[in-house]
Amino acid sequence: MTKSVYVLPGDNIGPEIISEGVKVLEAVNERLDLEIKVRYGLIGGRALDATGDPCPPETLMEARNSDAVLLGAVGGPKWDDCEREMRPEKGLLRIRQALNLFANLRPVIMFPQLVAASSLKPSFIEDLDILIVRELVGGIYFGEPRGFRILESGEKEGFNTLKYSESEIRRVGKIAYEAAMKRGKRLCSVDKSNVLEATILWRQVISDMSAEYPDVSLSHMYVDNAAMQLVSKPSQFDVIVTGNMFGDILSDISAMLTGSIGMLPSASLNEKAFGMYEPCHGSAPDIAGQNIANPLATILSVALLFRYSLGMPDAAVAIEDAVGKVLDRGFRTRDILTDDTILVSTSEMGSAVMEELKVTK
Ligand code: NAD
Repeated sequence: MTKSVYVLPGDNIGPEIISEGVKVLEAVNERLDLEIKVRYGLIGGRALDATGDPCPPETLMEARNSDAVLLGAVGGPKWDDCEREMRPEKGLLRIRQALNLFANLRPVIMFPQLVAASSLKPSFIEDLDILIVRELVGGIYFGEPRGFRILESGEKEGFNTLKYSESEIRRVGKIAYEAAMKRGKRLCSVDKSNVLEATILWRQVISDMSAEYPDVSLSHMYVDNAAMQLVSKPSQFDVIVTGNMFGDILSDISAMLTGSIGMLPSASLNEKAFGMYEPCHGSAPDIAGQNIANPLATILSVALLFRYSLGMPDAAVAIEDAVGKVLDRGFRTRDILTDDTILVSTSEMGSAVMEELKVTK
């Protein structure tokens, strides 16, 4: 089986965590005798520095010619003063949109070894297993018109547009319902339909779809309540489906339930299951270059890549099991370090997972 994975390390800790993800990918390649070819490209601030564009045409072309994309993270203070269209984060939004990656799957799984690292009491988070399905290429992050204008009073105003069409809601709803069918058959749709018209439609479309999925029990929740429920009674959730901005915020909250944002992987898929895989966190400029970032979100994103884009669930499970075994041995990066555990660096953590994959057959 010859497959190609296009790797975009990005900025700050991006290259550090991506090296560890690629180590693990290569270990699976070797273990299962696959022929996965890895090619590298530029995105974000490094692409801007090298080519004048945070998402160069070559990057989009190479991504389209691959079976999956693995991305680190982009952005950082070095590029904060760039004009808006040239910011590294804009490069990320552009590649997501160009590849039509409308469904962002964020599994929030509690490794039992990390219960002590969570900000919640153990009784609240044991057995936590939530899937957040976030709409990724619409909503307020992309809505037009947007910008700044001068009001008649002479005051400056910034504005954005929140809109969702029926088809945009339906296609992400389908992914969420189908995911719920394979899991606990409970879907919670999160909106703000008491205030926002775009999310009144969101609620209507998701509700109408429930007739097609009679086995799935559907509930609705306002986003403010969902944020509270995630930290007060997270185990009530199975699959959550929500729009772009609400999903962005709720998944960061959920990350902390698992111990660290460095533990949360993601898969962004189009309708053909072509996907881009990336950790949920940013480029963490505050810890870049120190070999202390947690690479596990990236490594777990590689597992999702095998599961969703390469159709190899066994390889995905092998990686997830290897991560569990490394945590069993007590290895922790600084963000998840607790009493009686062993501090390891980014590269030591990646190597430990790689070694585990080599020895456990
Ligand atoms: P961040 O996620 O980069 O960092 C938030 C906090 O989490 C920091 O204290 C950081 O040290 C810590 N952290 C993040 N990842 C970690 C890891 N793997 N291991 C240990 N600790 C980790 O968010 P931020 O500080 O708001 O943003 C920094 C830059 O990243 C900004 O330029 C932002 O725009 C960008 N960003 C990029 C993405 C992306 O590429 N997908 C996502 C969010 C933010």
